[in-house]
Amino acid sequence: METIFQQIIDKKADAKILFENKRVIAFYDINPKAPGHFLVVPKVYSRNFKTIKEKDMLYLIKIARKLALKEIKKLNVDGFRLIVNNEASAKQVVFHTHVHIIPSEKGM
Ligand code: 5GP
Repeated sequence: METIFQQIIDKKADAKILFENKRVIAFYDINPKAPGHFLVVPKVYSRNFKTIKEKDMLYLIKIARKLALKEIKKLNVDGFRLIVNNEASAKQVVFHTHVHIIPSEKGM
């Protein structure tokens, strides 16, 4: 079954996109845990980090870090969390691989 992230990739659903190329798309989370919370999603489908191809995982992490550094600079904070939930038991809700980048909050 098609996930919401597949619909965003295919432009059948809206999202506030901050970066996109042939291999990945990054967009702001609809329910942010902190200002600037965004998701980085590979365009080739995999369920999560248990099954993603290693080369796709490494590329995803590389882009996530690059975008995280830009976002924290923009927000003027010094840190971020990088989270990947794998399977429902680990709080995965959308079953298309994604990395969360959650910038630190000001004054914390
Ligand atoms: P998970 O728990 O699967 O790692 O996280 C899924 C994330 O996707 C959640 O933080 C949730 O807020 C976000 N999300 C779910 N549906 C949508 C949507 O339609 N648009 C956007 N931008 N984010 C979504």
